[in-house]
Amino acid sequence: MPDVVVVGGGSAGCVAAAGFARAGASVMLLEAGSTTMALLSDPGLSMTELTDARRLPIGPSSRYVDPITTRVDGARDVVGTRGRVLGGSSAVNGAYFVRAPLADFARWPRDRWSADVVAEGFRRIETDLDLGDRPGHGTDGPMPVSRAVVAPVADAFRRAATAAGHRDLDDLNAADAGDGVGAVPSNVAGGRRVSAAEAFLAPVAGLVEVRGEAVVARVDVVAGRVVGVSGRDVHGAFTVGADRVILAAGTVRTATVLMHSGIGPRETLRGIGVDVVVDRPGVGVGVGDHPEVAVAYRPPEVAEAYRPRRVAQTWRTPLEVVLEAGPVELRCYSTSFDRLIDGVPPGDPVIGVAAMVAEPLGSVVPLSADPFAAPRVDHPVADADRRALVDGVALAHDLLGRPEMAEVVDHVTTALDAPLPPGAALHTVGSARMGADDDPLAVVDSSCRVFGVSGLAVVDASMFPAVPTRGPHATVIMAAHRATEMLVAEADRSAAVRRGR
Ligand SMILES: Cc1cc2nc3c(=O)[nH]c(=O)nc-3n(C[C@H](O)[C@H](O)[C@H](O)COP(=O)(O)OP(=O)(O)OC[C@H]3O[C@@H](n4cnc5c(N)ncnc54)[C@H](O)[C@@H]3O)c2cc1C
Repeated sequence: MPDVVVVGGGSAGCVAAAGFARAGASVMLLEAGSTTMALLSDPGLSMTELTDARRLPIGPSSRYVDPITTRVDGARDVVGTRGRVLGGSSAVNGAYFVRAPLADFARWPRDRWSADVVAEGFRRIETDLDLGDRPGHGTDGPMPVSRAVVAPVADAFRRAATAAGHRDLDDLNAADAGDGVGAVPSNVAGGRRVSAAEAFLAPVAGLVEVRGEAVVARVDVVAGRVVGVSGRDVHGAFTVGADRVILAAGTVRTATVLMHSGIGPRETLRGIGVDVVVDRPGVGVGVGDHPEVAVAYRPPEVAEAYRPRRVAQTWRTPLEVVLEAGPVELRCYSTSFDRLIDGVPPGDPVIGVAAMVAEPLGSVVPLSADPFAAPRVDHPVADADRRALVDGVALAHDLLGRPEMAEVVDHVTTALDAPLPPGAALHTVGSARMGADDDPLAVVDSSCRVFGVSGLAVVDASMFPAVPTRGPHATVIMAAHRATEMLVAEADRSAAVRRGR
């Protein structure tokens, strides 16, 4: 029996599995998707559809995603994809690796997530290939970080924003970066998207037992203690015994695994016929994301723009430049989505406008007793976020109309007053959030241990107590790293106590 079972080999799960393995624990990692071990054993050699940082392998026929329908703003169903492969969403995402500002952590428990601890946490996870010599940056962490502004539109957008009075920032990951426009720090090295699997797991591959296409249905709990997990893989049903389970199945699936294990709101569990193990009303509620709308524009040479495969790909990542402007982030996508994602119909390139101070009004609710079925995901948009988006759309129009952009923009094709509703940025967090034990909606304590179940922890984006005001990926990695350190230390203390008995 392994010392630790990690459920989900995504951004957080790879960090946690590696952390426990380095500490000497025997670790089994159960991942629902394929585990493409070739990626781990041969890093840096072959460029694949997963590692080419210019592409997003999330199209309709992708083998690497879990498509889950999300109702946005009570009105519109969109298919939200999450990574379903070793590396999880980090293996398929846009590679934007911007840290949440330290002020965001004022809403995290202070005892273990002070600004100093978090800043040091960000430093330790990275090797910044451009700015490693600056204070606050790392030179020996597992995740490489680099920046590029090579797409013509990215360069023009940056110049337009500074001409319009926004600050030009040379380091969006500086502790005091604040608002402004700058090159996006990315988890990219040599044009290669470096997933959490490659950065964290590959170096300890021999120390972790990785099982692919193993979907965990529930955590088994007896008398308030974890005894293992059960699920199904290509051979059928399985159970694995363990007295320590780390959940890292992503914000949507971690919530459903918890609820199918009997941990969640009593009424919801009753509704799907699951016996209540621990009544935690916060599971699956208060879920947040960044609502995003797209402002499309037509490049001057339309015909050229629509010949994707023959046009030289003059971009290195989908998002090379962003503008932080109060409650909104303007994302200057390097090219149109049909050039980034296979199977997407041709369309105009866009500036994404995302509301970053988003109110977490969303929910994840299982619809049946079937633990493998997709849940219902709702993502209502608060009025304040809608107002921020309206202002952000106006800002995008203004920038797209500036002379600095004339070479790349002929005219804007999204009307200034085009109706929302927006989509969601796939930055879902907070379905099992962290908080004090007297907070009725908290699910885990400040060390990420689930209240009421000994041996169970949640280390992925589910446990975020608030929506970060930047894309979540860098914060997910930092938080999983910090959480794992605390859980390892606690496991060591428990073992010492047992030995002393
Ligand atoms: C297409 C896309 C683009 C994005 N772009 C960016 C970006 O550029 N910058 C940014 O900051 N953020 C981005 N994000 C968000 C960011 O990638 C995620 O917030 C982050 O990766 C989440 O990490 P996680 O560990 O919580 O979950 P994930 O990385 O999604 O990992 C969950 C893992 O658990 C596995 N799993 C699920 N259910 C089970 C089960 N029952 N049993 C076993 N395994 C299971 C999944 O297959 C997956 O591997 C993007 C997300 C997506 C989907």
